Amino acid sequence: MSCRFCGGRVEDAFVALEMMLGLRTEHRYTECRECGSLQIAAIPEDIRRYYDQGAYYSLQGEGEQDARDALRAWIGNRLDRAQIFSERGFFGRLARRRASPVAERLKSYIGESPVHSFNARILDVGCGSGALVRELAMHGFRHAEGIDPFMASESGGTEASPRLRRAAISDIAGERFDLVLLTHVMEHVENPPETMTTIASVLGPRSVCRIEVPVADSEARRVYGKDWVELDPPRHLNIPTRHAMRRLAEKAGLEIYRSEPAGTGFEFWGSEMYRRGVTLFDRDRGQYREARDLFTDAALRGFDERAAAAAARGESGRERFYLRRVALPRAAV
Ligand SMILES: [Zn+2]
Repeated sequence: MSCRFCGGRVEDAFVALEMMLGLRTEHRYTECRECGSLQIAAIPEDIRRYYDQGAYYSLQGEGEQDARDALRAWIGNRLDRAQIFSERGFFGRLARRRASPVAERLKSYIGESPVHSFNARILDVGCGSGALVRELAMHGFRHAEGIDPFMASESGGTEASPRLRRAAISDIAGERFDLVLLTHVMEHVENPPETMTTIASVLGPRSVCRIEVPVADSEARRVYGKDWVELDPPRHLNIPTRHAMRRLAEKAGLEIYRSEPAGTGFEFWGSEMYRRGVTLFDRDRGQYREARDLFTDAALRGFDERAAAAAARGESGRERFYLRRVALPRAAV
């Protein structure tokens, strides 16, 4: 077998257990000698079973519904479209109100992109239950839509209910978007180079793709190995390094023009839980454990500080990449 990112030689790394849902099934992973990426040796035939809709986090319901309703009542239709991203604009004003967490969250998805219009075509790939897409639509973005192969029910196409399709990335070839979001998706796809090529094909010259993904060249991965919480076997099929992401982008005719660390204390406290044999989902209570159930406030602060220090050294366990098409040299146009 060769590396799914760079084609390099891979060798056995370890066997890790499914610990998020608590199934404790065993999965073998390999590591690339060239780019350091981690890859599952064999994709389980019953992979859908690991996306149990009752338990898998991104397919669960609409936790922030109340906050969104409050926000919607407050915003009404009084949006200044030209200034939504300025300090005095939409997000700035929202941030000063009590609904600021929602506004800040949306800003983190849109703010760094060249999207400055509610007419922008936005695609959330691997949108889960569609929570982000609905938030975007509710905040005025008319052409936000989502795809997810594991979605329970499709909907949409109206203002109240944006378009959500049960589809894989290969199904969107031929369409065109201004902003494509992949938030913890790249590590779930079987064929990263093919996915990247499809993404490149739906981006226009000014479009942007934002990819947030766990990265294997990180302190938490080095320290915790098979217990690294971001490994998430067997759902995470391919975990790149930063170098592997650059190679992948290049091969698809894209460039990473900006990247930033995105890890949090979770990469340490979650890994610490797995090392102690504790699963994230508590089957008895039918809900996810909270960090506070197991760790003191001081311990949690310590994990946050460790994540910040790792990020400062370029060893965060998650990275956010911003990609665009490589501009053709003048002579070639
Ligand atoms: Zn490789």
